[in-house]
Amino acid sequence: MNSLQDLHKLSNTLSSQENKTPLLFIGHGSPMNGIEDNEFSGYWEKLGREMNPPSVVLCISAHWFTKGTFITAMEKPQTIHDFYGFPKPLFDVQYPAPGNPALAKETASMIHTTTVGLDHEWGLDHGTWSVVRRMFPEAKIPVLQFSIDYTKGPQFHYELAKELAGLRKKGVLIIGSGNMVHNLGIMNWKLPESGYDWATEMNETFKSLIVKNDHAPLIRYETLGKAAKLSIPTPEHYLPLLYVLGLKEENESVSFFNDKTVMGSVSMTSLRIV
Ligand code: ZN
Repeated sequence: MNSLQDLHKLSNTLSSQENKTPLLFIGHGSPMNGIEDNEFSGYWEKLGREMNPPSVVLCISAHWFTKGTFITAMEKPQTIHDFYGFPKPLFDVQYPAPGNPALAKETASMIHTTTVGLDHEWGLDHGTWSVVRRMFPEAKIPVLQFSIDYTKGPQFHYELAKELAGLRKKGVLIIGSGNMVHNLGIMNWKLPESGYDWATEMNETFKSLIVKNDHAPLIRYETLGKAAKLSIPTPEHYLPLLYVLGLKEENESVSFFNDKTVMGSVSMTSLRIV
């Protein structure tokens, strides 16, 4: 390639980066991160402060696992407290961000691999609001949720994500909210700041595959051995990562934050793609 082509490629890269929102995968962890000030929520606040405000946030949350694919299409999504046994202040949280029914409809029409239903019942579950309220506390930016079809496999989700790419040029911030390593059944409260060996090992494996842009094994995670089985006993917290990776373009780079395993079996590791 000659230098003029190089220059042309560079300027294309720069302009495409300028015109596109970043992609985020956020390890949301405990719902308490929605109200507690800690290293994780502190970083979410910093992210929100430092980025150009998006026109809309679209969140693929682990906590909206449905038969078929849906997008929230109401004017005023309700704040859903989809957890039990937490302190009252967490149940008192309201995040009154508006919806954007027109964009929901437009997004549904962009998708061709499946039918996307317009939803008027759901709202914002804690996978979305615990993170987004810390990033954008004023609740002025419209927020949509996109559901995860539990009848489909990982490849389907990875491919479906690609059809959302056009939203990034419209200033829509796409967030996948889950946890790469998430096994609540064997969580250990006595290990608040560390992970089991297999959890730390899997976290490192995921990061190294992500950095290498080697998505095939991440899609076929079931072939990654025992640590992967323990890390992903059920897929709902992992699949939001595949949406974000499916949307990543070849020339974009990845950085990690909140890179930590906690409670033995949960990884908070998050990524930003620009
Ligand atoms: Zn969760």
